Amino acid sequence: MSRTTETITLPTYSPGTTRELKVWRWGTPGARPKVYFQAALHADEWPGLMASHHLAPKLDQADAEGRIKGEIIMLPYANPIGMAQVVNGQMLGRFNFSSAHGNFNRDWPDLSDAVAARVTGKLGTDPDANAVIMREALLACVADLPDTSETEAHTKAVLGLSIDADYMFDLHCDLEATLHLYAHQEHTSIVMELARYLSVPVVMVDTGLAGGPFDETHANPWMNVRDQLGLDESALPAACFATTVELRGQTDVSDELGAQDAAGLFNFLVHRGVLSGDAPTMPDALCEPTPLGGVDSLKSPIAGLIAWKKKLGERVEKGEVIAEIIDIAEDDPAQARTPVLARTRGLLFSMDVDRMTRAGDTVGKIAGAKTLEHRDGDSLLSN
Ligand SMILES: [Zn+2]
Repeated sequence: MSRTTETITLPTYSPGTTRELKVWRWGTPGARPKVYFQAALHADEWPGLMASHHLAPKLDQADAEGRIKGEIIMLPYANPIGMAQVVNGQMLGRFNFSSAHGNFNRDWPDLSDAVAARVTGKLGTDPDANAVIMREALLACVADLPDTSETEAHTKAVLGLSIDADYMFDLHCDLEATLHLYAHQEHTSIVMELARYLSVPVVMVDTGLAGGPFDETHANPWMNVRDQLGLDESALPAACFATTVELRGQTDVSDELGAQDAAGLFNFLVHRGVLSGDAPTMPDALCEPTPLGGVDSLKSPIAGLIAWKKKLGERVEKGEVIAEIIDIAEDDPAQARTPVLARTRGLLFSMDVDRMTRAGDTVGKIAGAKTLEHRDGDSLLSN
């Protein structure tokens, strides 16, 4: 069987226009394990599009060789709504202009309660049978979602493809950044395997976030339903590995990087047995997993120009000067600079591309090993 292509047409948002999602499928519909990839849910994050472009032909080849055990679904672009948002010649794809400027990767529905209501009294001690019942309930809950508006229809269509996956990869990028991964703490060992195949220096794990990022919408119901119904992990494992894969920064788009990332993702799938065959030896880990609550988001104390004192990917110590913010209105150059200090020891993995910052803005992020007192637990890092 070879790749099939499906087109999903979204309801017209404005007269004379329609937008479409394209869906590629490999393997056998309904077979397990099911893998889901999407790229550029934040429409102006393009490295994942390049990785998908390089991964798709590798999956074609694997499919031709009969190596796909289950089913693989890929959206080559996840967000045609955001991709149409071009202002003054620049695509602005993080926030939806047409729905109160909501972040495209926030407020995805938490289906936990609705799924728990559907499966109450139906789950036993067999984890495989329970997983089947859970996935049917998840799909039924998605089928109940509204689809009148273009945004609603987009949400429902995407979740209808992804919510019952065994592996869900949401390919994003940061501003200027090293590779980094987010996953639920229960999936620490799996996400570390992915990190090793992708050569990722920062892996952040959390205990289930509020705020509705796409990955948590997939991972959390399994743990939440387990807790609500008083089951243990052997009866209801965390059967959807969902990860946000941050493929460096916005301008890190090249054939070389795309091919490298596609190879890492492909090898991980072989390693996990999603694709038959022998995976290359897993490379050594570049890091230990760290808590999301251990990330120090560096805030600019004043408005001004950023003069970075550390480089992206550098390991820094607590108390070190990471950057200086220059008050361009200050008459005395000796008084113009305010330092931004590291509040943890760790890796500087993200930097703002804007070199003129506003007071209170996040200018960079350091991944540290210890949960920080000034952080609100595992809360999301940005709006
Ligand atoms: Zn993103």
